[in-house]
Amino acid sequence: MDSVEVLDTAALLAWPVERMRGGLVVPGQRSELLHISPDRELVLEAAELIWEAPSEEALAKARELATTTGDMAGLSSVDFEILALAVERGATLFTDDYRLQNLCELAEIAWSSVMTEGIRSMWSWDLRCTGCASVFPVPDSPSPDRKLGNCRECGSELVLRRRR
Ligand SMILES: [Zn+2]
Repeated sequence: MDSVEVLDTAALLAWPVERMRGGLVVPGQRSELLHISPDRELVLEAAELIWEAPSEEALAKARELATTTGDMAGLSSVDFEILALAVERGATLFTDDYRLQNLCELAEIAWSSVMTEGIRSMWSWDLRCTGCASVFPVPDSPSPDRKLGNCRECGSELVLRRRR
């Protein structure tokens, strides 16, 4: 594994053993996972996950972040621990939880979704002009050079913005 990865429970449920190998997880996820899917225990054993509790300091930082964004009420204690561990280890957090993704954005923690399709159904995107703020339909296939083109009204660069 090239970089440190913290895996949320969705990843533990969905990913094959090889993909999970060496991932960081918090102890609270074991009971959470076994409650949802008892059959996964053997898979977890095989994945050689690193079970690690975040420090008090990291937990305090996670709480501070969640208070700032107002995500506090929607997060479980396991979610907090996952976030804190990612903060502490400078890891990439794999999660489909939009609250955790939002907090990662705020804390400038790298994150990625567990299921590539997940994020599309959760978020809607607009293609918006950086000049005149006109909104255009989002292209349904990615362009090879990742460029989104220019506004046909004013010629400014177009960017993707999450619809709120
Ligand atoms: Zn424009």
